Amino acid sequence: MAADALETHLTVTGRSTIFELTMSEGVTAQAFTLASPYRVVIDLPDVNFRLDPAAGQKGAGLISAFRYGLFASHKSRIVIDTKGPVVIHSANMTRIKGSSAVKLAIALMPTDAKSFGGGTGAGMAAASEEPNFESAFEAPPDKKQPNAKPVIVIDPGHGGIDPGAIGPNNVNEKTIVLAVAMQLKDELEKTGLYDVKMTRHDDVFISLDDRLKFSRAVGADLFISLHADSIETAASSIRGATIYTLSSKASDKVARIAAEKENASDLLAGIENLDEGKDDQVKSILIDLMKRETSNFSSDFSQLLAKHLRKKITMSRVPRRSAAFKVLKQTDSPSVLVELGYISNRSDEEQMLTPEWQSKVADAITGAVQIYFNKRTALRP
Ligand SMILES: [Zn+2]
Repeated sequence: MAADALETHLTVTGRSTIFELTMSEGVTAQAFTLASPYRVVIDLPDVNFRLDPAAGQKGAGLISAFRYGLFASHKSRIVIDTKGPVVIHSANMTRIKGSSAVKLAIALMPTDAKSFGGGTGAGMAAASEEPNFESAFEAPPDKKQPNAKPVIVIDPGHGGIDPGAIGPNNVNEKTIVLAVAMQLKDELEKTGLYDVKMTRHDDVFISLDDRLKFSRAVGADLFISLHADSIETAASSIRGATIYTLSSKASDKVARIAAEKENASDLLAGIENLDEGKDDQVKSILIDLMKRETSNFSSDFSQLLAKHLRKKITMSRVPRRSAAFKVLKQTDSPSVLVELGYISNRSDEEQMLTPEWQSKVADAITGAVQIYFNKRTALRP
């Protein structure tokens, strides 16, 4: 049986900050640090997190915030954001007297960037170890039969350790988008016209790369990534859905910020930033590789989708935008990323939780998908 994570506590003493986690029983834990941005990662076996939903949103001392959740099957993770470079001064697990429960205490001390780079980040090898997703990834896409159904990949954003945006009532983006994805899958399957695949079915973390690999491996004909946006400023009146397609240059500031936020998912989950510095180069190469045809189809679909969604739910002021979203960098499959609304807006947050609203979204997307594929089939020689 998996251990329960029951409570967290941050203690600031002198220059050090201690992160404490109470668990129902002892487990093997591993901790290491990462840079760009500075983080401390604690890897644990399968743990049931029974923490206060607000835990981790407020920092103290050297810690600005932390997140927790399933990282891969049978592997849980806690990622602590620190205000600067830190060193793990000590890590202890002690039994709480008279019970099977234990307290894990990780003491952090500040350090400078130079000594941080000098190898204090113990356990780097473990850091680059990505979750084991299906091994089917490596297999080339099956040659499709001419009459095979179009393959639609639904990609519910975030998951596990990465909650995505968090609303004023602590509703997580990862939960809403998974619920919408499930309804959409049902709706699409009901038509009998499509082969529907999902990048995740439960609350587990999937890296952006693995989402792309999955889409390729299953030979996606259309890739739909589902998200919900948030805005930190007091502009809580901002709401509505936006549909994004890929472009190397963002269509506006809102689009640029949205892409930066969504692209940070891997960093939030404690995956090392291997692209740092080369990012712009990688960006342009990947976008060059994308076929113009794919890009045109993405734009066609985005237009259809805007038309259908507008009839059912509130749209943002500029409902179609573009930016360099990593998860949209697919050479063969047309793709869109839908920010279904602003979870930071109380009305949006409340609405997005209701099955009625979720089914309206599923209906609208299904309608757009049907018209899109009808058109494409009609164009076939
Ligand atoms: Zn998102």
